[in-house]
Amino acid sequence: MERFDVIVIGGGHAGAEAAALAARAGARTLLLTQRLATIGQMSCNPAIGGIAKGTVAREVDALGGVMGRATDRSRIQFRMLNRSKGPAVWSPRAQCDRRLYREAVRSLLDERPGLSLAEGTVARLLVEGGRVVGVETSEGTRVAARSVVVTAGTFLRGRIHVGTSDGVPAGRAGDAPSVELASALAALGLEVARFKTGTPPRIDGRTVDYARLARQDGDPEPYRFSWFVRAVPPAQRPCWLTWAGEPVKAIIARHLHESALYGGAISGLGPRYCPSIEDKVVKFADAPRHQVFLEPEGLDADELYVNGLSTSLPAEVQLAFLRAVPGLEQVEMTRAGYAIEYDWFPPTQLERTLESRAVMGLFFAGQVNGTTGYEEAAGQGVVAGINAAARALDLDPLVLGRDEAYCGLLVDDLVTRGVDEPYRLFTSRSEYRLLLRQDNALRRLMPVAERYRLLTEAERRVAYERLEAEERLLERCGSAVVRPEQVNELLEAHGERGLQEPVRLSALARRPAPGLAALLEAAGEPHDAELVDWVGIELRYDGYLAREQARARRLREMEDFVLPEELDYLGEQGLSYEAREKLHRLRPATLGQAGRVPGVSPADLQGIVVAVLRWRGGAGCT
Ligand code: FAD
Repeated sequence: MERFDVIVIGGGHAGAEAAALAARAGARTLLLTQRLATIGQMSCNPAIGGIAKGTVAREVDALGGVMGRATDRSRIQFRMLNRSKGPAVWSPRAQCDRRLYREAVRSLLDERPGLSLAEGTVARLLVEGGRVVGVETSEGTRVAARSVVVTAGTFLRGRIHVGTSDGVPAGRAGDAPSVELASALAALGLEVARFKTGTPPRIDGRTVDYARLARQDGDPEPYRFSWFVRAVPPAQRPCWLTWAGEPVKAIIARHLHESALYGGAISGLGPRYCPSIEDKVVKFADAPRHQVFLEPEGLDADELYVNGLSTSLPAEVQLAFLRAVPGLEQVEMTRAGYAIEYDWFPPTQLERTLESRAVMGLFFAGQVNGTTGYEEAAGQGVVAGINAAARALDLDPLVLGRDEAYCGLLVDDLVTRGVDEPYRLFTSRSEYRLLLRQDNALRRLMPVAERYRLLTEAERRVAYERLEAEERLLERCGSAVVRPEQVNELLEAHGERGLQEPVRLSALARRPAPGLAALLEAAGEPHDAELVDWVGIELRYDGYLAREQARARRLREMEDFVLPEELDYLGEQGLSYEAREKLHRLRPATLGQAGRVPGVSPADLQGIVVAVLRWRGGAGCT
């Protein structure tokens, strides 16, 4: 039997990162997936990044993952969302060529030393004495491993629905479902639940009347997701905006009973923040119209993705409502939208390393943990991949803090709070939004990358050069003095008071406008555009940053207060009934984690401290 340190099941966004990172951490790794040709496949929208998600893509890259590099190689439009708001919510987003993205992920994985790729459908897990020891494929091939990461996405007992028929078994359109693996996981005694998600129809761009649409071009300034590689992106393509108004709403309302969701064919809960057009029409009945973005599927493809019209209505109804959208009167549909229902495993069954509590060495990442989205999957893949390698190689486990990375916040939310609808990241989920930014992801995560040796020598050199250059520019801003005649015209043009006397550049950069880049330009200070974001934010928000760092330190103290596994919460009369029940079920590892369980109050936390101190003083402390 062939033997690996780590086996990753699945080549989606969680699987690709888990395999890439396990290999970087030094584990001999096998990525085993149903079809090699679909590694890195985007099941839905061909876009990476967006609110909070863009920061995750940069974190994944900082740790040596593939998402940022693949995005840079395949992006056909880039926009920095929320640029007009505070830097805590700046969100890079790229529209990608679906084929180029897939090819980039594949070639980045192919190049990675220590990583093998193989085609096969895992049907069973080999478990001995409560520990996973390998996997078996549906053809009966057995492969041994010390850790296994499950990243099977929407495939576990997946069932596609269009209209009210019973549905077709599938992992996504064109792919077989994963039924044996779903049964094997359930047989381990894991709790299983069911969610649904959906995708909109695709249309033929040659049948669209662009004169009736609003054109949206990308940002002109260059931006790269990867900290290490300066890929030249392909040519850029525009997106288009139109609206679904009353005629569309009327068609949908008339056919609602034929939708898989509303006709009763699907019972699983769907993502609240990515609702189907049926959901929008029912839940936001007063909204006169809904935005529809037409996004290119690729550089040379005529097909457009109809963002905003996700649906599970019959194909003929989809075509009818598409043709009621301004600009789409003559449109041809190339592929119908559909909904998919699938199994997932409540992540409260996992440790903060994403390892199963029931089976040692078995890790879960991505959609199987109840999340939705490529970046959420990739972020978990990173954590699971490093920890699977750590388990196999007897290294210390990695637990990322909520103040350290969105990947840390994401995992903490999943294992502590659990999921009751498909989980998606938002900046509002973070209590440390100003610390977790896209511009400082490398700085935040460099210590982790170093601890697990996740970067090549060449990447480390690039990383340190960049971090040092940023610090030099920060210092330079502290010492450089600007004179009124250099900047007053610029200040006044931005509605700011002019200077009476020379001041330090760092003091001037605290003003809301015109921003550090323009000030450096006016002062004749040489600078690299890529370095300015971090320096400008550090100067302008230093007071807020210091306060957030102090709060993060206090949280860390709570995180250091470890709660013993043996604590009998049910017997603790000093805790509310709700807290007793939830803490007994979730068994938080630290006081910080207990504090984030919904329903656990500050009074309960005090009760827990008293209980732990009593436990430590008693027989439990041996
Ligand atoms: P996937 O990308 O699904 O990858 C799973 C991988 O596991 C595949 O490579 C598969 O072949 C492999 N696999 C499965 N079983 C086995 C097995 N037994 N043996 C070997 N390999 C196996 N996200 C959004 O953010 N917004 C949306 O609107 C949205 N809509 C979606 C609509 C649809 C129809 C689908 C299918 C997904 C949608 N998603 C959406 C979700 C997005 O695609 C996923 O969140 C993301 O792809 C999850 O990544 P993953 O790695 O967990 O799983």
